[in-house]
This record gives sequence, C-alpha cells and structure tokens, in this order.
Amino acid sequence: MHRVWNFSAGPATLPTEVLLQVQEELLDWHGAGCGVMEMSHRGKEFTGILEAAEADLRELLGIPAQYKVLFLQGGATQQFAQVPMNLLAGDQDRRSADYIVTGSWSKKAFKEAQRIGQVRQAASVEAKGQVADGFTRLPRADELDLDPQAAYLHLCTNETIHGVEVHDDAALAALLPAGVPLVADMSSHILSRPVDVSRYGLIYAGAQKNIGPSGVTLVIVREDLLGRAPAGIPTVMDYQVMADNGSMLNTPPTFAIYVAGLVFQWLKRQGGLAGMQAINREKAELVYAAIDASQGFYKNPVAADCRSCMNIPFTLAKPELDKPFLAEAQAAGLLGLKGHKSVGGMRASIYNAMPLDGVRALVHFMNDFAAKNA
Ligand SMILES: *Cc1c(COP(=O)(O)O)cnc(C)c1O
Repeated sequence: MHRVWNFSAGPATLPTEVLLQVQEELLDWHGAGCGVMEMSHRGKEFTGILEAAEADLRELLGIPAQYKVLFLQGGATQQFAQVPMNLLAGDQDRRSADYIVTGSWSKKAFKEAQRIGQVRQAASVEAKGQVADGFTRLPRADELDLDPQAAYLHLCTNETIHGVEVHDDAALAALLPAGVPLVADMSSHILSRPVDVSRYGLIYAGAQKNIGPSGVTLVIVREDLLGRAPAGIPTVMDYQVMADNGSMLNTPPTFAIYVAGLVFQWLKRQGGLAGMQAINREKAELVYAAIDASQGFYKNPVAADCRSCMNIPFTLAKPELDKPFLAEAQAAGLLGLKGHKSVGGMRASIYNAMPLDGVRALVHFMNDFAAKNA
C-alpha cells in the first residue's frame, strides 16, 4: 500500500489511525456481527455511537448546555439557505440579516440568503477593481457598516479558498453590536483551535475538511434561536424539529457520524483543541516561513494577522513553473496542491489530520524546487 501526503482542500486527508480503526471495524463493529453502515440508526449500537460523538464534541469545544448539537446533511451549502430560512424568513419584526464578505464562501452565503429574505452586506474587503488582489484580509473596524437590529450577523471564520482566518474570537466580538447573534461558517477550521462557542449564536461546518467524510454537517445552535422558522418551512429544514428529534427525524448519515466520532476521540488523544492548535501553528509557521524566505519565488498575499493556519494559498513568481511544480510535487508524493481556479497558483491545505512530517516534506520540496528554478 502507498499513501501520499494529501494537501487536498476537501474532501481531505483523515488521520491514519482513524482509517485503520474503521478498517478493523468495517465488517463487524464491536461484535455486532455487521458494520456501522449496515445497522439500524434506531438500534442501541448506533444510538450509542451518536451519543458518544456528541459528548466528545461537546467536551472538545466546551459547548455550553444551552446549545444544541445537530448532525445534518446537505453540506455547508445547505446551511447557506437553512440559516436564513430559520432565522430570517419568519422574523416577526421583519428585520434583515447582515453579511460580512471576506471571500468566496461568505459571498456565496450572502447570495444564497438573498433568495430567502432581506440581507445587507455589512462589509466587503474585495479589493475594488483589483481582482488580482482579491480577498486578502479581514475588514477593519471602520469598514464595518453594522445594523444593530439585524436578525443575525453572518461571517466565515476561515475562507478556504483565500486563506483568510479569524484567529481571535474576543477581538472579533468586540467589533460587533451586542445582542445580534453571530452566525459562523467554520467548515474549514472547526476543531483546529479552541473556540469560545458562547460568542456565537450558531456555528455550522461541513465535515469533509476537518471532521470526517462528506455527508454530515454540524450545526451548533443556541436554544433561543430555535423555533423562529415560519410555519410553512419544510420539516426537514426546521432546526427545531431536528433538535426535538435528536438529529433522527429521518435516517442520519450514520457512517459519516461514526467516522466523525472516531476523529473526535483521536483529537482528544492529541491533547484536545489546545494541543491541536500548537501543532497546527507549528505546521503553518513552517510553510509561511518557506514562502517568506524564498525571495519572491513564492508569494502569499494575505495580511500577516489573518493568514490561515489551515489553507495556505501561494503563487509562483513565474507562472510557467506552475505545471512543473505540480508534476514534480506529485512525483515526490505530495498531492492536491493545485490552487482553486478562482485564485490560481497553489494551495496547501494542512488540516488537523496532516502530520508535521507531511508539512516538512512539502517545505523540503518547495525549498528544493526554488533552488533549482530561481
Ligand atoms: C467547503 C466549504 C463550503 C462548502 O461545503 P459543502 O459541504 O461542499 O457544501 C462552505 N464554506 C466553507 C468555508 C467551505 O470550506
């Protein structure tokens, strides 16, 4: 068997330990005589798996008791619609929702919400007329145009494509109007560092970056935000109904939840989120140091204080070297480094499951390639 270092943005690499455990349990889970994929979601085995996954997640993130944890389907993209369907469409006071646009994903969320209700763009850092610069920083306080009456304020705390990350929940919260629930798309950095969940009204994340296989979507929602959906909302889209049924209104994505639960256990063995954060910082610093020391051979355009620890986009000063870079990287066992088509160049996604050794291999390759081609 041959496993490469996989820098794919998502679906992304999973911890080898977890995959081996899945392999071990695939045909016969703990003596049940069948695998998790094949058992009833209502049986005691799967119910136990779901309960343990939720308990471990609550422990890892320190989720306060007045928050519900939902295991849904449809990806983060469904949440772009489901959030305004639940929190905006039925709003008794006909308020609008604010969106901070810091990259492609928050822009998509903003566009989707326009189909459901009244939304405002509370800030955008898209460099006007300078598409090449794109999204390279978070907005400053004086660039925010916030509605203190908004039904909620939406933001994406890690822009996967542009590599722009919110690192400090407290500093962020200080900029925002009190009483407006903060809704965050954390798809690509959830569980990569400790988060003060109490600062958020709702957090959502698709699983396939930092949680597990695609197919399950995590929603962590404060209880007072439930029950705000309009009467006509489809049952399966209603957070309140999903919460009342313990994410089991219908068949949940059982296998994805099971693997996510194993990832949560693995995270606890890494020292929880504080332990993971230390490793993630070390990994990111190695890559950024290689870029910054390359004398312009590699370039990352993101402002230093919001460079992502998870997704590191970079360009080569000579774009004609893009193809050789990718081909030689692949030959060296480094996969998934091609940047998103909207920004070009390269992107190294170094989620929790990417070991330090994989990052060292990448940096070694980058330094070598630059020395040969400078
Ligand atoms: C990947 C991603 C999405 C889209 O996720 P899907 O599960 O494919 O819908 C949304 N937001 C962010 C920040 C992402 O990284």
